[in-house]
Amino acid sequence: MNYDVIVVGAGPSGSTVAKFLSEKGVKVLLIDKDKFPRDKPCGGGLCEHITEFDYIRGKIEKNPSDFLESICIRSKIVSPSAKHTTDYLSETPLFYNIRRKKFDHMLVQFAIDAGAEFLESCKVKEVFTTQEKAVVELANNKEFICKVIVGAGGTYDVVANYLRKKEGLKKKQGKYIGMAVVEEFKVGEEFIDGAYGKERTSMINLKHANLNGYAWVFSKHDVLNIGFGGFNDEMKKIDIKKEFKNYLDFLKMRGYLPKWVKSKKLIGAPLPFIGNIKKTYTDRIILVGDAAGFVSPLTGEGIHYAIDSGKIASEVISKALEKEDFSAQSLKTYQHIWMKRWGKDLESLRFFHRLLMRYPEKFVKYGSKDEKLKKIFIDLFIGNMNTSRIKCKIVSRIIMDFFIYDVFRRG
Ligand SMILES: Cc1cc2nc3c(=O)[nH]c(=O)nc-3n(C[C@H](O)[C@H](O)[C@H](O)COP(=O)(O)OP(=O)(O)OC[C@H]3O[C@@H](n4cnc5c(N)ncnc54)[C@H](O)[C@@H]3O)c2cc1C
Repeated sequence: MNYDVIVVGAGPSGSTVAKFLSEKGVKVLLIDKDKFPRDKPCGGGLCEHITEFDYIRGKIEKNPSDFLESICIRSKIVSPSAKHTTDYLSETPLFYNIRRKKFDHMLVQFAIDAGAEFLESCKVKEVFTTQEKAVVELANNKEFICKVIVGAGGTYDVVANYLRKKEGLKKKQGKYIGMAVVEEFKVGEEFIDGAYGKERTSMINLKHANLNGYAWVFSKHDVLNIGFGGFNDEMKKIDIKKEFKNYLDFLKMRGYLPKWVKSKKLIGAPLPFIGNIKKTYTDRIILVGDAAGFVSPLTGEGIHYAIDSGKIASEVISKALEKEDFSAQSLKTYQHIWMKRWGKDLESLRFFHRLLMRYPEKFVKYGSKDEKLKKIFIDLFIGNMNTSRIKCKIVSRIIMDFFIYDVFRRG
């Protein structure tokens, strides 16, 4: 069977490409190895600028119960020693709390409604391209032919592997891959109202287990989403279950978790923590979302980048279809567009990640005292700023705070 475009992976990035291309009348096949609705290990924090997508904003405004659990307007960032806390209460949403099972299913449904064909429970084994066609081979040996393949299969995407080999790019290394583990606990609305408030406070504990990452609690409607993460190489060296229990005990001691809660279903997944793949396109191929490495190196947030890259990819592919030109040269604009929109921000977030992991106590201490830095700090965390443009401004504010609070020891 022939298609214009085959999308491998029906997470947020893949279903977005499928939706936008199908709306333009393109013949799309969306494939996923799992049966939907499926869950995906995730914090389920959806940054506020997701509302720039009309169809998602429309849902939030008109049918929030379709996928929205709660809205976080307060955030606490706690230093490793727990001596300092940056506590920020916002008048507007900081982020939306969702649960991936519902959210991803809704996005797939958007794609199907737009006309995409959806093939679930089918693993893609291999892909390859020639000058005339692109081929997708399933684990059951069935083959599909198309004009363009979109790699949307997450961190270890099969299409990205093919592109890497074809372009002679380096293999993914452990030190660049993140790993996060998470579990959700149904503790009831009443408990959450009491401990986290109607503002659904989020908790971030920096460098939990001395990892270059953090632990978190995101409070949904009646469920707490609790997890932690760091680089894969570091995670391999620790006792993950024990460290998770330590975090639960820390929360219990402070009244953030009922004493009866016990971990039963801790699950984990990789994420491309540092750095996108150098080339996110080649002849007849484009990579989106985690497959391309689009995740904030500071927080691990990737849903917004997944959806935005999916939308950009759909626009570039649609133009390529009009011209009937699927060469790397024709698909190159994809990389230009995402680089201009947030590619440089991802690079500077990497810089802030290093800085924060080096001086977490100082960062949180300054953030707890300096209202301007507090706002910057939170904005960095929720992915709410053009970091590359104001990098120098942020650094000078930190240096100023160093002199005020550490050298002259005021406050
Ligand atoms: C524990 C954890 C917590 C996180 N928390 C947050 C958060 O709070 N907020 C946030 O914004 N981001 C978060 N992220 C990151 C976020 O989950 C990803 O950035 C996002 O899911 C990327 O979407 P995607 O569509 O690119 O990939 P995915 O969501 O990973 O989807 C890929 C899809 O491809 C399918 N697939 C893979 N291989 C194949 C194959 N060979 N054949 C067929 N199908 C295949 C998979 O089944 C999957 O459905 C978190 C990540 C982790 C691991």
